[in-house]
Amino acid sequence: MGMQSDYEKNPSFFVDAMLGNIAKKLRLMGYDSKYEADIGDDDLINSAQKDLRIIISRDENLIKKASKFGIESIFLEKQEEIKQFHEIINRLGLKSIKINGDNARCPLCNSETNPIEKHNISDKIPAKVLEKNKKFWKCKNCGKIFWEGSHIANLQKFVSELNER
Ligand SMILES: [Zn+2]
Repeated sequence: MGMQSDYEKNPSFFVDAMLGNIAKKLRLMGYDSKYEADIGDDDLINSAQKDLRIIISRDENLIKKASKFGIESIFLEKQEEIKQFHEIINRLGLKSIKINGDNARCPLCNSETNPIEKHNISDKIPAKVLEKNKKFWKCKNCGKIFWEGSHIANLQKFVSELNER
């Protein structure tokens, strides 16, 4: 059940409300994932159609509506997050997920991030964190700074489990 080739190459998503944690993880994995906690079905559908985003939702009515407009969507049946990710990667026809901090998008605002040198952020980050981590990234949009230990390492653990199945 693979998706159209455009989606397979570089899928982007509109993640439905209540699935904020899924959106955050997809962003750190490098997927462009729009998420708004407070958006009506019609606005969500319009936006997904305009940007060619795949809708990810647990709301069957929304999925049905989207399909009427010819919009790809992924319905998550499962409750558990890791199983929900299996549903997503199965639908996309992905064999595994690879994480690379340099491709990660900002989990807060979905923008791209840039690697940043330690000495440029030494006044913004606790000394302990600076000491313990080698790689840092800064969001191009909101300016938030991320590092390997807190963000990528935790996700790496989740993705290892995901790829093991
Ligand atoms: Zn950001």
